[in-house]
Amino acid sequence: MLDLTPEEVRRLRELADQIAMGTQGRPCWLTGARVTSIGILARVSDWLGDACGHLDTSPDRPGPALLNPPCVRPADHTGPHLDADGHSWDNQDRETSQ
Ligand SMILES: [Zn+2]
Repeated sequence: MLDLTPEEVRRLRELADQIAMGTQGRPCWLTGARVTSIGILARVSDWLGDACGHLDTSPDRPGPALLNPPCVRPADHTGPHLDADGHSWDNQDRETSQ
């Protein structure tokens, strides 16, 4: 990770989380910002070790749930879950968008 303090990393994650959630379902010109933000969320989650970690277990999500990547948003997030692949789902395990 960069030479950032834990507080700077948390601020970076907060910004990345806001961008990732703000670009969900938006026009394609925001795709680069969304992909970058999700990548930052995944790396910071690995580094801090305090990601939400929720798995999408909805029946319409193909494959075994344990093979799907977990939510990379902060553990105390509100709104939909989001994995490192950009797949999001709501808290009732129902997919909201991809
Ligand atoms: Zn989550």
